[in-house]
Amino acid sequence: MGNVRELLSSRMGPTTVKFDTGRGGTPDLTTQDIAAALAYVQDGLGRELLETLWWPESAARRRDYLRQGVIGLVAPEFNRQQVALSTARTEFGIAKASMGWGGGAVTDAQRKEVRRTELALELARAGTWPNNTMEQLGVLAGAVIDEMAMACPCKKCDGVRTQPAEDGLGVMRCDDCAGSGFEPLSGRKRAAAIGADCSAYSRFWQPVYVWMLGRMRALEEGAAAEFGRALTRAA
Ligand SMILES: [Zn+2]
Repeated sequence: MGNVRELLSSRMGPTTVKFDTGRGGTPDLTTQDIAAALAYVQDGLGRELLETLWWPESAARRRDYLRQGVIGLVAPEFNRQQVALSTARTEFGIAKASMGWGGGAVTDAQRKEVRRTELALELARAGTWPNNTMEQLGVLAGAVIDEMAMACPCKKCDGVRTQPAEDGLGVMRCDDCAGSGFEPLSGRKRAAAIGADCSAYSRFWQPVYVWMLGRMRALEEGAAAEFGRALTRAA
């Protein structure tokens, strides 16, 4: 799949490039063919990322679309977490208020409900990104895109994403890269990229960073695959 990305990045170079369709031929594709194939890639964040990473000249003109795509990805999940947290807090409050309501005796069931809702609130808190996530979105997205742009294949699995299974039968997800196929950047480097210190990164920012990186990589890969299929049809 790397070759269709390289093809895109070479678009501003020679007007005709060779593209191996995997069918034995290496037809010449013009820049018009490549631009036409790109037009078949569905609009959205995946395509914006594909262009940002591999065709920066075009991406510079599409910065607003990239921003909208990132917001469209992150904001719904951020809202979902906020609602879940707020609901958990309400339920914990209700459970506490219900204990001995109106001077009645506190029952075991009520105590149990307080413990259950307290635990649920803790879980919701742990699963909630920092309050200022949306304010930091531009910085986070920039750092994630830079990591995607500079990523090297994972040293352990060589980018294959799997490793031999421990029992010697078949394969399992590569531990080192968590199945991404890329060498992850260290927490220290990610912290520096978002202007946080190491402990703030690992305590607060890592979950949202890793989530964004995973989603954005998958979207870009989907767009690259679509682009590859459109090129094969054009060839
Ligand atoms: Zn790996």
